[in-house]
Amino acid sequence: MATPIGNLGDLAPRAREVLASAGVVAAEDTRRTGQLLARLGLERPLVSLHEHNERRRIDSLLSRLHAGEDVAVVSDAGTPLVSDPGLLLVRAANAAGVEVRTVPGPCAAIAAISVAGLPTDRFVFEGFLPSRAAARRARLDGLRSESRSLVFYEAPQRLADSLDDMAGTLGETRRAVVARELTKLHESVYHGTLRELADRARSDPDMSRGEIVVVVEGASAPPAATAAAEIDRVLRVLLKTLPPSQAAAIAAELTGAGRNACYARAMSLREP
Ligand code: SAM
Repeated sequence: MATPIGNLGDLAPRAREVLASAGVVAAEDTRRTGQLLARLGLERPLVSLHEHNERRRIDSLLSRLHAGEDVAVVSDAGTPLVSDPGLLLVRAANAAGVEVRTVPGPCAAIAAISVAGLPTDRFVFEGFLPSRAAARRARLDGLRSESRSLVFYEAPQRLADSLDDMAGTLGETRRAVVARELTKLHESVYHGTLRELADRARSDPDMSRGEIVVVVEGASAPPAATAAAEIDRVLRVLLKTLPPSQAAAIAAELTGAGRNACYARAMSLREP
């Protein structure tokens, strides 16, 4: 079940009810969830469920579920399983035929996408980038031509370096948004190109304070000239061994261009 990412007022009434009636609350950090329960005036048994003990906890939690108890799974903030523990337990419960129900609510990735003003019809959640520079750049390199908006969680101390690497690999002029401390007192949303945001992150210490989501617009379609050059390149290779009609059919499939256009181009590229 989801809990607030900052503002307690975002706890859904149904989330409160489920917490109040749970047989046990499986929490990423029992101290933190204990504080949440206390603020809600609730008292429930808590067990820890975090990345280091989740596998070990499964049998005892499944026994409680089989005995008819409700187990509420809660992470430190937001939605469990989204860059947070819970996957192993949910998977085990599904496999054991135990009903798993959701209490949806806050999620930083969705909150950021909803204020970024970048395309939201299709987006990719990338979670945290690797902390080591070489691995981070390799991950970003694989996203270079991704046309959907990209959503990253980022640690404050790595924000400037990550934005620099994004500008270097995805393009200096790509539009992006840094959303920090959403729903909290210092909520701020910074808009700009990746280069502008990277430079600002170096000069403005406030920008890297607190919890941060970065949203980056997807790659735009290659310009027509690039697409035409690519079609020619593919056709030239295919025409070495295939007649124009077959070369055009394969080129159309490989490049996404129209078959008739490829055929016309194949005819003009054909050796006389
Ligand atoms: N499960 C959580 C969710 O549903 O969003 C995310 C957990 S992940 C361990 C924590 C990361 O989420 C933070 O490092 C930050 O990138 C992002 N985050 C969480 N709360 C945030 C907030 N209020 N504003 C901006 N980003 C936040």
